[in-house]
Amino acid sequence: MEKLIFAFEEGNARMKALLGGKGANLAEMTSLGFPVPPGFTITTRACLEYLKNNDFPPGLLEGVREQVRKLEEKTGKIFGSPDNPLLVSVRSGAPASMPGMMDTVLNLGLNEETLKGLIKQTGNERFAYDAYRRFIQMFADIVMKVERSLLENELQKAKERKGVQYDSELDQNDLSELVKEFKRIVERESGESFPDDPWMQLEKAIRAVFNSWNNPRAVVYRRQYKLPDDMGTAVNVQTMVFGNMGNDSATGVAFTRNPSTGEKELFGEYLVNAQGEDVVAGIRTPQPLIKLRDEIPQAFDQLIELMKKLENHYRDMQDIEFTIEKGKLYMLQTRTGKRTAQAALKIAVDMVKEGLITKEEAVLRIEPEQLDQLLHPHIDPKFEVKPIAKGLPASPGAAVGKAVFDADTAKELGDKGEKVILVRWETTPDDIHGMIAAQGILTAHGGMTSHAAVVARGMGKPAVTGCEALKIEHGEAVARIKEVEIKFGDTLTIDGATGSVILGEAPLVPPTLSGELEMILKWSNEFKKLGVRANADTPDDALKAREFGAEGIGLCRTEHMFGGGARLPYMRKMIMAQTDEEREKAANELLPLLKQDFVEILKAMDGLPVTIRLLDPPLHEFLPNLSDLRVEVEVLKLKGASPEKIQEKEELLRVVRSLHEANPMLGLRGCRLGIVFPTIYQMQTRAIIQAACELKKLNYNPLPEIMIPLVAIDNELILMRDLVEKEAQKVLQEEGIELNYSIGTMIELPRASLTADEIGKNADFFSFGTNDLTQTTFGFSRDDAEGKFLPHYLDRKILKTNPFEVLDEKGVGKLVEMGTQLGRKANPNLKVGICGEHGGEPQSIHFCHRIGLTYVSCSPFRVPIARLSAAQANLKESGVDWSSSV
Ligand code: PEP
Ligand code: MG
Repeated sequence: MEKLIFAFEEGNARMKALLGGKGANLAEMTSLGFPVPPGFTITTRACLEYLKNNDFPPGLLEGVREQVRKLEEKTGKIFGSPDNPLLVSVRSGAPASMPGMMDTVLNLGLNEETLKGLIKQTGNERFAYDAYRRFIQMFADIVMKVERSLLENELQKAKERKGVQYDSELDQNDLSELVKEFKRIVERESGESFPDDPWMQLEKAIRAVFNSWNNPRAVVYRRQYKLPDDMGTAVNVQTMVFGNMGNDSATGVAFTRNPSTGEKELFGEYLVNAQGEDVVAGIRTPQPLIKLRDEIPQAFDQLIELMKKLENHYRDMQDIEFTIEKGKLYMLQTRTGKRTAQAALKIAVDMVKEGLITKEEAVLRIEPEQLDQLLHPHIDPKFEVKPIAKGLPASPGAAVGKAVFDADTAKELGDKGEKVILVRWETTPDDIHGMIAAQGILTAHGGMTSHAAVVARGMGKPAVTGCEALKIEHGEAVARIKEVEIKFGDTLTIDGATGSVILGEAPLVPPTLSGELEMILKWSNEFKKLGVRANADTPDDALKAREFGAEGIGLCRTEHMFGGGARLPYMRKMIMAQTDEEREKAANELLPLLKQDFVEILKAMDGLPVTIRLLDPPLHEFLPNLSDLRVEVEVLKLKGASPEKIQEKEELLRVVRSLHEANPMLGLRGCRLGIVFPTIYQMQTRAIIQAACELKKLNYNPLPEIMIPLVAIDNELILMRDLVEKEAQKVLQEEGIELNYSIGTMIELPRASLTADEIGKNADFFSFGTNDLTQTTFGFSRDDAEGKFLPHYLDRKILKTNPFEVLDEKGVGKLVEMGTQLGRKANPNLKVGICGEHGGEPQSIHFCHRIGLTYVSCSPFRVPIARLSAAQANLKESGVDWSSSV
């Protein structure tokens, strides 16, 4: 029979899939001889079996009893004993870290009888009652599903009655009363009496932890971090140790390096006379770890020594939970610590310098998506920041948005595309959907390791926590900072790097690369094979892309060059022209303007290739809206406007109507435009080549690549190539210049992929437009699917990921691979890239690497992410196991 339970001494750190992260690391620490309270882990396999059958696998409960007996032997205490009771914690622990997402029950095994035993054992009546009331509170919430606030309010009332602020100020009589009241409420609410049998308590707690794998916040978290739903959680049952046994007891969290900055310094917080959940929930404001040196010096020294050992052993920054019971230190958890992108970079680069890891490992350790937070805006340094309050700088980056006081509203507004700042007294795991939707998070309460801080850092969201000046009235849509009132919907700016809270909108500026990021990206370039280009349409974007290390432009969309201000009237004239002459005249008006655009972009990318796509969108996008125009004509008629005016509008209406299409995405767009209106493509070619000639004369090295969009048939490309080539040669002859330029096509229709061997004969390069290719392969409208039905597909797991975000390898990817192979068969020198949104998405980049594309092209801000992903793809392919030794 499969082994479903492992004592801590039977496991190790490599068994994360089976024992979960917490269980595997507790096992590892046990085998390293660290002071870990004895315990055992029920495997994730047992959880999956349980979830499948809604019942424990055969023999599991017997196995649990057997393991508890062993704990009794090890500790000399007896589970359920009225003299010397053994109490345990029951904690979740998934293979991937999901902090706070699933459930935990502490102090399990208490009832009226064992309570007496606990008093005997410890001689501390207050402590025993405190443990009991905590147990009932947690068990009622997590196992019996009694509304948490009911018991919380009761506790609050008890403190108010006594006129005290903290739980620790309640004595045994208060707590004993509270226990009675708690039990009454539980019975009233659940219709069951609170279970006294410790074995029943344990069984129910294990069930609850298993079930918590599927609680809504855990599901949302997995969706956010693209974690699989079929891992399951392990359950760790561990002997309780108590941080709430007086002033020589404490509990806390410690990081081996600063998770916010990456500095190699002491970082952590603790509370004297408290239990673990008090630190995380931010009930009392914790002390910085360094103070422990004075309060409980011996345990402090031992903790520091063990932290060093752990970091060297795991060769990565560790996030540790510890408890000190009457001066004795216990380690309750270690895991690789979550960190900001900034910290991740600094730690990786420092560890290479310290000789702890290799450059390859450093590159593999940075999560590409995490870089996004560094590549986000911060407050313009020229702006004089006048904060209305300061909190803790919990997660860097600046964010602007409307103040919203609850997670549901944050999600609702966020889904509509509004920018919000989630303002809370503190956050709990139930707020996760609102945190995802918000631009930033502001809390009144909680430290650098509070829920809000940890989760925001993980998400790369700016957060300011513990802003004590912030007062939020419970249930009110308003907050106050001194005399300033913040109402629902008021704009706030928060700066997660400094902790500043600003009323109104502060100007944000784009980021630049830090030294450590440059280092990691430099190493990435050493390890990657794929080229990385940017999609950039303006000189500013091009310069940013270059600064971020783009090796060229993979897609310069030219449509914006025809819209706006002075240009639109000429574009309209060109579209509405009745004769070739009229059309050419309008084109000639636009020519110098477009040429100047190309001069600037080619200059910004001097010496690097620039793929310029000829006009792609349907022409009606440059004309007024059909129904608006209809109304305008009627209004003119009603108002008795002049016949000329009416005629002019009617003519416009006629053209708009003639260009109107039921399916513009599948209509007169892409190369079809060039076929129907060759003047447009000729004029664009002329502008590009003239721009390049001008730069050549000034000793620049422009490398234009002219790209024909939306080709489906080789004859389309043959025609357009001929058109472009003739125009280009004409200009070069006029200018007397020699120029390196190439002509290629986008592959963004299934037929183009399927016939790429024919199309490839006439192309110098292919660029896969995977936005359109996804649209046309699935038959999903790229404008509507995500708003209409794709969320259902994801919820019901019809699709694992949104194919407009992550390239669908099985379908669209197959077309990309086939198109690449067929194209190269026709033209062995064919350069092949991708320029849809997928070009900046790590998983899709791995795919592009595997099928041997020449480059990916993505938005300038994602260029660093793409460089890193490309390096990781190559390193992972090399087959060396770079993961740390444990
Ligand atoms: C594409 O279709 O993937 C593409 C890059 O072009 P656009 O998004 O402009 O249609
Ligand atoms: Mg396209």
